[in-house]
Amino acid sequence: MKIKQLHNLYLDCNSVNTDTRKIKLGDMFFALKGDNFNGNKYAEQAIEKGAKYALVDEAKFATQPNIILVENVLESLQNLASFHKVYLNIPIIALTGSNGKTTTKELINVVLRQKFRTTATIGNLNNHIGVPLTLLSMNTDTEIGIIEMGANHLKEIEFLCDIAKPDYGYITNFGKAHLEGFGGIEGVIKGKSEMYAHLMTNHKIIFINADDHIQVEKTNNAQTFSFGNNQSDVSISLINAQPYVKVSYNNLIIESNLIGTYNFSNIAAAIAIGNYFKVNDPAIKTAIETYTPTNNRSQIINKGNNKIILDAYNANPTSMKAALLNFEKQAGSKIAILGDMFELGNDAEVEHQNIVDLATSLNIDQLLFVGENFFKTSINASKALKFKSFDVFKINFDISQIVNSTLLIKGSRGMALERVLDLF
Ligand code: ATP
Ligand code: MG
Repeated sequence: MKIKQLHNLYLDCNSVNTDTRKIKLGDMFFALKGDNFNGNKYAEQAIEKGAKYALVDEAKFATQPNIILVENVLESLQNLASFHKVYLNIPIIALTGSNGKTTTKELINVVLRQKFRTTATIGNLNNHIGVPLTLLSMNTDTEIGIIEMGANHLKEIEFLCDIAKPDYGYITNFGKAHLEGFGGIEGVIKGKSEMYAHLMTNHKIIFINADDHIQVEKTNNAQTFSFGNNQSDVSISLINAQPYVKVSYNNLIIESNLIGTYNFSNIAAAIAIGNYFKVNDPAIKTAIETYTPTNNRSQIINKGNNKIILDAYNANPTSMKAALLNFEKQAGSKIAILGDMFELGNDAEVEHQNIVDLATSLNIDQLLFVGENFFKTSINASKALKFKSFDVFKINFDISQIVNSTLLIKGSRGMALERVLDLF
């Protein structure tokens, strides 16, 4: 089927769907395949549940007229999304980077929503399926699209940019995340910079943090809009990060609900992008001040008389370091519970040791390390305890004894360290 024809059918549908458990009336169902499932088998069920059309790529499942046989369902989804972007002809802002993509995306979204009808990536749907789904969730009402792009290997961002054809882009930072797939930090810089290459080739605009020398260097010949120090297009400065990040911008003081100095650049990017799109200053201030993070991302939770900084959504060496340096500045008794960082490949051993060395050198009263990797490190501090697994941790350390303290809980998603909360 020609892409134009498919797009016409799509325009007739209410939304697209890849999961029959969530089918709504009038959906277009894409029967995707994974390692352990074959969506083709559910095409009939999707129609029964109300889908208007279902796309399959195995002839034997195309059993009725509204089940459409294509060569490859995933490619059809991606091509349709790409076609739709051109059809809508709206500005798309793409975001990638090692840390802070979702936070920055949400901040940009709340700022731009003060003036425009926006559609942004829902949650963390930032891959080769999530990006097309995000594009297809936009319609003629959408004035600006904001798309998060994630990657754990080279050429992925290039591919996602080819689909979404962004008009603007921002790379939050180049950090030590997904080192395994990228083959080291140089690979990370190369991989993320694929977005710059795409934007430059197409003469589009790149938002940059003027205080990040890699961002400045990599966009030497590009059209940029910068924020940060005085030589930038918008000057935004950090007033302080305690207890929450407070910034100054155009004679305004903006008090966020986000903790950690590392959130300064995320907030500044959203302010700068708001400024670029001419959202007025009071509206930018309101947007930032009313945003509160969710989903275990730097959330503050009070348990009894303890304050918990729950950052259990994910971790990598860069974000772990940033979180620890921020945590050290907290007042009173401090306990950090740190879980393994995944996807580090050959760097795992040294990166876990680096974190242990850093953490034990900081002014933190007690350190609990959980996970196979941390268990293998060597530790020279009486205030630090290591546990191979969360279950051992539970048995050997009674968290309910902790009082009047501030706790940092951070580890990779697979560690699910939010489980610590149940122990109080
Ligand atoms: P993912 O790769 O899982 O999509 P992400 O890039 O979307 O992650 P967020 O979900 O916004 O990142 O943030 C996850 C965690 O990363 C935060 O809770 C915080 O610990 C850390 N973080 C956020 N922003 C930064 C930053 N600018 N620099 C370093 N660490 C950061
Ligand atoms: Mg994310």
